[in-house]
Amino acid sequence: MTLIFATCNRNKLIEVQRILGPDFKLILPSDLGYDEDIPETHFTIKDNAMEKASFVWDKFHQDCFADDTGLCVDYLNGAPGVYTARYAGEPKNPVENVKKILREMEGVPFEQRTARFVCDIAYVCQGEMLVFEGTCEGHISFEPQGELGFGYDPVFIPEGMDRTMAMLSLTEKNAISHRGKAVDKFLCHLTGNRS
Ligand code: IMP
Repeated sequence: MTLIFATCNRNKLIEVQRILGPDFKLILPSDLGYDEDIPETHFTIKDNAMEKASFVWDKFHQDCFADDTGLCVDYLNGAPGVYTARYAGEPKNPVENVKKILREMEGVPFEQRTARFVCDIAYVCQGEMLVFEGTCEGHISFEPQGELGFGYDPVFIPEGMDRTMAMLSLTEKNAISHRGKAVDKFLCHLTGNRS
């Protein structure tokens, strides 16, 4: 089965492809000649996921899905949330985003550094939309650690672990991550295994 994944983030592609497996051929809008940013103008993660998937469906009329992810930090009243990608301003800069979050959390004790990643996968199949959500609870670390993963992974310690997400292998991250959980639900839907 071929699906368009409405993203230009190769890291997301690698994570999702690993879970969906070889029965699903994922192509990106760039493979179809579309190289520009996909709009995300809404105020919730779910609405942005749906907007990205609708945009790609309207363009290509092929079954497609989008992933929108946000990091919600309790001490920051849920920020950066829907602004996760552009937390340190335009243009998007993951290194600056991490620096900003650590600055804002300076001096905050570990027990008050609780946060969660929320990932919504919006799937458009023959014009019908479905959304699958996954969350991952954890804490913001005191400093970046680890070389794997992407984005905020170096400063996110998943619940029950003593390593940041950037210190987890792809298999370990997918087993506990927001995206892993959302894509597992998506895969159950695709394969008809909805128990
Ligand atoms: P978007 O979903 O592409 O809009 O990404 C939102 C922001 O969250 C970007 O800054 C990404 O780098 C970051 N992000 C998305 N998924 C992950 C993840 O799995 N780990 C760490 N950061 C992520």
